[in-house]
Amino acid sequence: MAASMRNPIVRGRSCGTCTLCCKALEVKVLNKPAGVWCAHCKPGSGCAIYTERPRECGDFYCDYLTNPDLGEEWKPLHSKIVVASELNGARITVYVDPQRPNAWKQEPYYSRLKLWARAAVPHRGQVLACVGGRTYAVFPDRDVDLGFVGDDELIVTSERTTPLGVELDASKIRKDDPLAKTLPSNDGKRAL
Ligand code: SF4
Ligand code: SF4
Repeated sequence: MAASMRNPIVRGRSCGTCTLCCKALEVKVLNKPAGVWCAHCKPGSGCAIYTERPRECGDFYCDYLTNPDLGEEWKPLHSKIVVASELNGARITVYVDPQRPNAWKQEPYYSRLKLWARAAVPHRGQVLACVGGRTYAVFPDRDVDLGFVGDDELIVTSERTTPLGVELDASKIRKDDPLAKTLPSNDGKRAL
């Protein structure tokens, strides 16, 4: 789990019986991959090691809890989607329950993802959908399947010119690739 941007918890909201982040997200320190239940989770109940849970878990608050712009339809228990603002707002990732892999493509969620993708274009921000570790980059006009993105990889957002005009694209690059160091100022590309 990456720490989500921390805003105050929206009044009246709490995790309740939701434990979806303990399934949908990776927990690096526990070697728990995205999309499988954490061995310490009692689904519908909570964390069996709550007082000793990793800091990675304790620091995580999904956007449903902290973003008043997300309505009740985003409640993870029902939507099967965990929204996380990451990298100081440069990226929004929706982590999807693999049992409902297309949940992010349903309405009203998909339209909202496209709105976020449009808003991210000027600063080359990223909107990602992560389904059990498989990652899709969401753009206003299409989605790009990036497959599994390793810890040693970055996601590069870039422009490319097509006969129909400029469109955004996404690809992966290894963190130790010398090109990665030049990307923030290279042809409008951004690596996150
Ligand atoms: S997904 Fe959000 S609401 Fe659900 S348990 Fe995690 S932090 Fe709480
Ligand atoms: S350690 Fe606890 S809080 Fe962290 S993923 Fe596992 S069950 Fe959830």
